[in-house]
Amino acid sequence: MGIGHLGPPKAVFLDRDGVINPPVGLDEFGGTESPLRFEDFQIFPWTAEAIKILNSLGFYVFIVTNQPAVAKGKMNHLELENMHFHLIYWVRSVGGIIDKIYACLHHPDPKQVKIPALLADCDCRKPKPGMLLQAAQEFGIDLQKSWLVGDTWKDVQAGQAAGCRTILIRNEVDNRGKTINPDFTAENLLEAAHIIEREENTP
Ligand SMILES: [Mg+2]
Ligand SMILES: [Zn+2]
Repeated sequence: MGIGHLGPPKAVFLDRDGVINPPVGLDEFGGTESPLRFEDFQIFPWTAEAIKILNSLGFYVFIVTNQPAVAKGKMNHLELENMHFHLIYWVRSVGGIIDKIYACLHHPDPKQVKIPALLADCDCRKPKPGMLLQAAQEFGIDLQKSWLVGDTWKDVQAGQAAGCRTILIRNEVDNRGKTINPDFTAENLLEAAHIIEREENTP
């Protein structure tokens, strides 16, 4: 946390796929597919710099990500943990801090779920705001002063449900036919970080 930021802590919640790292092709429903193997997990070149900007503004930085491929048996959860350790240390190696990664591993459809313990109509799966609310509780975050950056309607809806301001990173594939009303749109996370910087510095 930066010095001189009075009041309760604030956060920027970042979606992962399409924000931190590119998706890998399309899934069976025509949406973007998340990387399922560690070797397919590539981090955008601007990710660490953008996170450093958010750190410098005094925000906690959390990642909130739906990873239902674990419930579907398409990815071992250890593979996901490897990706997330790599991400945290990669960002850390250039001076950026990710405070915590929250991942929803559930899916509600019994036809698609292979891991019975992860079959759930849970509160953490975006568009529900459960992961943001959990972080807020754990870290005492003021959600009204916080932001969500994501590339789908589900992210924006979760952010709005939690009371955050939202930035949509443009993604035509996953938002077809959806009406989304983010506060801002951006081309990528670096542009989103600059929008947040500008807004924070506007009285
Ligand atoms: Mg995404
Ligand atoms: Zn969940």
